Amino acid sequence: MRRKLAAGNWKMNGTAESLIEIDALIAGHPSPSVDILICPPATLISRMAGRTGRSPIALGGQDCHSAASGAHTGDISAAMLADAGATHVIVGHSERRADHAETDDIVQAKAEAGLDGGLTAIVCVGETLEEREAGRALETVGAQLAGSIPQGATGATLVVAYEPVWAIGTGKVATPEEIGEVHAFIRSELRTSFGEETADAIRILYGGSVKASNAAEIFAVGDVDGALVGGASLKAADFSPIIEALESSGG
Ligand code: PEP
Repeated sequence: MRRKLAAGNWKMNGTAESLIEIDALIAGHPSPSVDILICPPATLISRMAGRTGRSPIALGGQDCHSAASGAHTGDISAAMLADAGATHVIVGHSERRADHAETDDIVQAKAEAGLDGGLTAIVCVGETLEEREAGRALETVGAQLAGSIPQGATGATLVVAYEPVWAIGTGKVATPEEIGEVHAFIRSELRTSFGEETADAIRILYGGSVKASNAAEIFAVGDVDGALVGGASLKAADFSPIIEALESSGG
């Protein structure tokens, strides 16, 4: 049985004054029936960790370098994220694939560095609008999975996030049919790569304009084990109803 996961990606948003949002989340979810993860900017991880303490709220980075240390100005390693209090790291988000020309090989190396550093890797995949309209959504996601998934992953160390690029930050949401088709495909590809037992323990999140008003419909789709949420994770008042919808979906 996979425990569901509500993950928030704050992207390049948040300063000290945003710490009240983590306080509100902690207060609002003392014993959730789903996992809750916030991936703030790296500058806030340590300060948030000082607040999350023994609460059930976990913290993650939004990226890591593929190397453990060295001459990589401006980068951050998995060990540094773990040292700051993170347990997870997002790799291969479409914004990094686009803004930083991250290829599948780079994403895979980052995911493996995350695992080596003791973190759970959240590997993002998803097609562009052009690829979907050309009928190549599954082909694109399949190639990204094959190229980006770390070797030797388990249900404890890998989460896959399906995030259609055209649905991120746009207010457009994939239909339940589109989400169901891609999630079932990802599960089947994971079974081919890892075998049934391991594949069935790996959580697959949907991401793309998830908000309180559409969360329940998305969480009712088969093989959706939670969500990776951008904009609607910045405020506890917006993220909490999404967490509650995930709990109500059987989490
Ligand atoms: C994301 O950043 O991963 C994301 C899904 O963003 P949004 O929820 O804002 O579309």
